[in-house]
Amino acid sequence: MFLAQEIIRKKRNGDALTNQEIQFFVKGITDGSVSEGQIAALGMAVYFNDMTMDERIALTTAMRDSGTVLNWDSLGLNGPVIDKHSTGGVGDVISLMLGPMVAACGGYVPMISGRGLGHTGGTLDKFDAIPGYQTEPSSELFRKVVKEAGVAIIGQTGDLVPADKRFYSIRDNTATVESISLITASILSKKLAAGLDALAMDVKVGSGAFMPTYEASLELARSITAVANGAGTKTTALLTDMNQVLASCAGNALEVKEAVDFLTGKYRNPRLYEVTMGLCAEMLQLGGLASSEADARSKLNAVLDNGRAAEIFGKMVAGLGGPADFVESYDKYLPKASIVRPVYAERSGFAYSMVTRELGLAVVTLGGGRRKPGDALDYSVGLSNVCALGQAIDSDTPLAVIHAQSEAAFEEAARAVRGAIQIADKQPEKTPEIYQYVRAGDL
Ligand code: URA
Repeated sequence: MFLAQEIIRKKRNGDALTNQEIQFFVKGITDGSVSEGQIAALGMAVYFNDMTMDERIALTTAMRDSGTVLNWDSLGLNGPVIDKHSTGGVGDVISLMLGPMVAACGGYVPMISGRGLGHTGGTLDKFDAIPGYQTEPSSELFRKVVKEAGVAIIGQTGDLVPADKRFYSIRDNTATVESISLITASILSKKLAAGLDALAMDVKVGSGAFMPTYEASLELARSITAVANGAGTKTTALLTDMNQVLASCAGNALEVKEAVDFLTGKYRNPRLYEVTMGLCAEMLQLGGLASSEADARSKLNAVLDNGRAAEIFGKMVAGLGGPADFVESYDKYLPKASIVRPVYAERSGFAYSMVTRELGLAVVTLGGGRRKPGDALDYSVGLSNVCALGQAIDSDTPLAVIHAQSEAAFEEAARAVRGAIQIADKQPEKTPEIYQYVRAGDL
């Protein structure tokens, strides 16, 4: 018999909790027998005294098991179930290409993704830009599309990880979001509830990242790798650059267009290509679908070049209710903003640095993200042709093209873009797209 207040006292005093104590507390979060005050107190005790890796594994698995855990055995899939998660960024459209690319190489990707948060875009909001696409399908339809297309990207269903829903909303109101232990358990419980064999984790670093410093991103990457592998899911974390907008654009419909152009080979932004390939290659290796990085890359390039990945994207979109000819005719379906006009810098030089977060907020201000939960989005707005760091900027080369619905919105975004991109006489030092891999064997 446990008492919630004794568990809180133990953590408050800096001692490690047992598996059973953690399971008891999480059960109480889920069934309501532990009060909001007690949950907040435990969150704060963890914030100050932290958790060991064993405690984090116990918290993650107890939260994962607080609701439905998906199981793919009955589908008789002939490949591994693999997924990717990102800590969020600006112009981070990777999931849209990665899912079909991995599926085309023999993996199954049941991706449960989220909506935009703060300055970051959300994969689900991007799919909502496609008319007819159901981001909340029945579980039968989700399973059917995973089996037949190899990938389905949808929103979180009501009964996955109820413990996180309650815990996260209390953390959000009580200043305990920024705990590596709690972030690890929150992210992984939701991902592992999808019944994965393997997971690649994209931990962003830089001015548009969720974590404030390189060290904090690395600490989160290590925690996630240790806990996910400890919970039985083969996982690698990649630390990737978010010191500039990752794709050439940011905004829901604009990113969908860029993803389709990437898959069909019309245009592949080199940074986006590197990070996408790095994550896909790791997923293929973790899932036993490639024997080395080189083998994985050659398989991935083959499915890009032969059109198989683009075809799978089309199959997923049609399977989830979108237009059957979306890949060929996206221009007919995606909404367009009434004002599409470049914004120029006040001086010429080189794009030297970006406050990427501010560029993400500019998209929110244009109406492409939410100011408060539940706000309706305008999928057409955002930024395209965003300059890359190191690029020469002059009166002919804009910082970006703004897609807005009014002159006032255009002006506000133009001010934000000029303020967020610093121009200098010299080029910045080039930073890698992928800084570091954190694999289970490295810990
Ligand atoms: N995202 C999550 O899902 N959980 C956290 O705790 C932080 C970011």
